[in-house]
Amino acid sequence: MNLREIFTPDEIAKRIQGLGREVSIFYGREKVLGVCVLKGAFVFFADLVRCLDIDMEMDFVRLSSYGDGTASSGEVSVECDLVSDVRDKNVLVVEDIVDTGLSLYYFSRMLRSRGARSVRICALIDKHERRTLPVNVDFCGFRVQKGYLVGYGLDMAQKYRNLPGIYTIDPYEIEAADV
Ligand code: 5GP
Repeated sequence: MNLREIFTPDEIAKRIQGLGREVSIFYGREKVLGVCVLKGAFVFFADLVRCLDIDMEMDFVRLSSYGDGTASSGEVSVECDLVSDVRDKNVLVVEDIVDTGLSLYYFSRMLRSRGARSVRICALIDKHERRTLPVNVDFCGFRVQKGYLVGYGLDMAQKYRNLPGIYTIDPYEIEAADV
């Protein structure tokens, strides 16, 4: 595969320190439930929480809107639910990429219907131009317009999550891998 690095490990680390400050200032002394959206956000979540100076608990959820390919199926399901009760909690959803917004539109509504006091989104990457549903990213690492990204937790067909930087893959190679 032809990978092109777009964010180096150093750039990512610096941006996450900045995000950590933004999030810490925003919540101040309020208690927060940080929710890591598996699997893609696991590396980002681990780095982010160590930059947060807030009173927080953590939980994990697994949503599914993509199969092993690179196009959304248009449906969202909760494959592995939270253990915590979110009622009256300030929930910070930590996601790898917000793309069309489908996954987090659905999940934010679910959190509110379960009685969360507030729901905010922290995403490593916001593909804002591709949004089809109204999802606002409150804390954004990087904005990217196009391309399929891998590395730093992001996969293609479960590969490349262990790469320390973030890379784009040549679109012709994605088409070939989809067949
Ligand atoms: P959405 O529901 O916002 O359309 O899609 C969000 C999910 O799609 C992300 O959590 C991520 O799993 C996946 N996704 C979107 N764009 C990319 C990408 O460029 N690379 C990877 N690896 N996953 C992506």
